Amino acid sequence: MSALVDLHMHTTASDGTLSPTELVRVLGRTSLRLVAITDHDSLEGIAEAKRELANHPQITLITGIELSSDDGDSEVHVLGYHMDESDAELHEVLAAFHRNREGRGELMVAKLNELGFDISWERVVEIAQGGVIARPHVARALMEKGYVSAMSEAFDKYIGRGMPAYIEREKMTPQEAVALIRRFGGVPVLAHPTYTHNPPALVASLAEVGLAGMEVYYKNYSPEVVSELKALADRHGLLALGGSDYHNNGESDEVMPGLVGPPEENGQRLLEMGPG
Ligand code: AMP
Ligand code: ZN
Ligand code: FE
Ligand code: FE
Repeated sequence: MSALVDLHMHTTASDGTLSPTELVRVLGRTSLRLVAITDHDSLEGIAEAKRELANHPQITLITGIELSSDDGDSEVHVLGYHMDESDAELHEVLAAFHRNREGRGELMVAKLNELGFDISWERVVEIAQGGVIARPHVARALMEKGYVSAMSEAFDKYIGRGMPAYIEREKMTPQEAVALIRRFGGVPVLAHPTYTHNPPALVASLAEVGLAGMEVYYKNYSPEVVSELKALADRHGLLALGGSDYHNNGESDEVMPGLVGPPEENGQRLLEMGPG
């Protein structure tokens, strides 16, 4: 499949490994016409991406972000589109998230040191290349020392939720994430709903507090999952969106941008919800 729309991708502003410029160059070689960059808790990659987009006039960029929240013991990600990356107050809110992520990252490294792994916080920061610290950076530090052979092994054994070196982030509920995005004029969209325990209940509760859409066309979702999620979105009048969640993570089975995405008209409707 060749997609025209991909609304979920990461850069070095969070845990992707391509800079915004490099990512946009990759996008320029695909069928994509409408894209969004959605770094974890960060809008820092947007300005650079926009500069490179001047060289790819066929592509329209929607500003995006992916906020992490917790619903009991499950992690819920909420995408926010059309946020204003120059808003000073929003910048402050995100800077607090970044500080929290740093403290948490350092604590995870300390736990891993206690478990006998010789990795350093300085190296994790280097791996993050100036971006917001996220667990994949810690996973890479473990991987390059040969302690694990794949990112997923680091999560499954050590830094995944409930594992010995896992540290919680500061708690925000999914409802608060939706409210935060609304407060700054953004459009809140539930990311990869199947990662949560009870998607129908969560979607119903978030729809009540202003959720505008949910991912339906995501990475490796089967046609069956897509049709179930599409029905759920329709039931609540939510826009059915999605994308590749591309990180350039180095794994051979990673879904590339341009291979999966929502129908063009859904992307168009999201585009129209933004500032002119
Ligand atoms: P953080 O925001 O620091 O909690 O890190 C979460 C990110 O880690 C997710 O957005 C994914 O990119 C990545 N991740 C989570 N679970 C796994 C896993 N099992 N294998 C590989 N990457 C994962
Ligand atoms: Zn990520
Ligand atoms: Fe996510
Ligand atoms: Fe993501």
